[in-house]
Amino acid sequence: MNIEQVFENQKNFFRKGNTRNFEVRKANLEKLRDLIANNEKEFCEAVKADFGKPYFESFSTEIYTVLHEIDYHLKNLKKWMEPETVGSSIVTFPSRNKIYKQPLGTVLIIGAWNYPIHLTLMPLVGAISAGNTAILKPSEIAPETSSALKSLISESFDTGMIAVVEGAVDTTTELLNQPFDKIFFTGSSRVGKIVMKAAAEQLIPVTLELGGKSPAIVHEDADIEVCARRIWWGKTINAGQTCVAPDFVAVHKSVRNEFIDQSKNVLSQFFRDDYHPGGNYTKIVNESHFDRLQNLLDQSEVIFGGISNKENLFIEPTIIQADWGSEIMQDEIFGPLMPILTYSDPSELIERLRDRPSPLALYLFTKDTELEERIIDEVPFGGGCINETVQHLGNPNLPFGGVGSSGMGSYHGKYSFDTFSRNKSIMKKPFWPDPDFRYPPYDDMIVSWFKRIFS
Ligand code: NAD
Repeated sequence: MNIEQVFENQKNFFRKGNTRNFEVRKANLEKLRDLIANNEKEFCEAVKADFGKPYFESFSTEIYTVLHEIDYHLKNLKKWMEPETVGSSIVTFPSRNKIYKQPLGTVLIIGAWNYPIHLTLMPLVGAISAGNTAILKPSEIAPETSSALKSLISESFDTGMIAVVEGAVDTTTELLNQPFDKIFFTGSSRVGKIVMKAAAEQLIPVTLELGGKSPAIVHEDADIEVCARRIWWGKTINAGQTCVAPDFVAVHKSVRNEFIDQSKNVLSQFFRDDYHPGGNYTKIVNESHFDRLQNLLDQSEVIFGGISNKENLFIEPTIIQADWGSEIMQDEIFGPLMPILTYSDPSELIERLRDRPSPLALYLFTKDTELEERIIDEVPFGGGCINETVQHLGNPNLPFGGVGSSGMGSYHGKYSFDTFSRNKSIMKKPFWPDPDFRYPPYDDMIVSWFKRIFS
């Protein structure tokens, strides 16, 4: 089947009503859960073959997270699907009013390479829950995983319900020409703009899950040892190739040296100089990303680390001296390089952050609740943690998404169900009463009568 036929097939499948009722949605979620659980090893091996990701990291961030999400949906779906009864208003009295949660139809899910299972299947859970059919386009940069997704999904699901289309730019461009009912895109801000432009041509709604430079702020009163552990954990999983990895550290001047010392300790405890890919550290995904990172490294003042090896696509976790104007502070790093800059006045720091594009995440380490409230209130960012990194993603009660250049819309848990549903508002009226005053010919007296009643 060519792309147009795959799309048409899904449209027909949806129109036949094959996806809508609760039992079908539940069965499809269970089928997806079994598919993932039964093929955990195959999936993790595919990700390891693509970019040397350790099994534990693949299990915890690609497999477990999606299984957890499916269980959460199975537990709550019936309740989410129920039409919501809302009150009437004085203008529309008497009436009964309900909001029906309706599936959108056929949706397109485009994934990024860095969590190639998670970023395609996690949105798929929401698409199924909400009663849609879905075409998945995994990233061509993780080809083994893309191929595993295609073969395992096509063994379990009718392609009318879920189809995987593999390919790169040409394929995605062709997909973007189809009149989907929704496009859910995960990737860079650059490609996000291309996707949104294509969607605008056909007025297709989009959710864009993009990236950005997510800061970690270490205030003077923080427990520096714990900060260093949590920041470097968030930075070194997937070798920093994580959309919500702390991109840089802004540390209070008075604790800069302590943070650097603790960082050295932490990294030697984590890795003991054993960085072999697939063991406890991940490769840089390909030569072009390696060259991009090496170029940044070559222009930087290294405080600690800095070893790299193109043959193994290895880059050591590295602390870099930086200021706001440094080359490495211009774009998302997406690798294990960590610029560190200092501040002394939180107000100045807040101004600096507000001047920059809004990041996907922000992490603040402090015991000062006033500062916590100020940062949450005054700095725009998608979401984040206080005294932790990355873990806000793991709670399905929290919506996950960016703001401004880091994205639009959100998902996870109920928010995924909502992202792939639309609200249909229905008002139901009895045949009586049916007063004459609302119909022409109008009587001017009615205006004063209206004003008396409704003001
Ligand atoms: P990318 O934007 O290069 O690619 C993402 C997807 O878009 C891929 O499937 C790719 O095939 C497709 N694509 C690439 N160029 C295209 C084009 N010209 N036209 C149409 N489609 C095109 O991103 P990536 O390198 O796979 O992932 C890294 C980026 O994704 C980072 O910026 C990262 O922060 C972001 N990201 C965001 C999240 C999130 O949840 N917000 C998660 C992971 C990654």
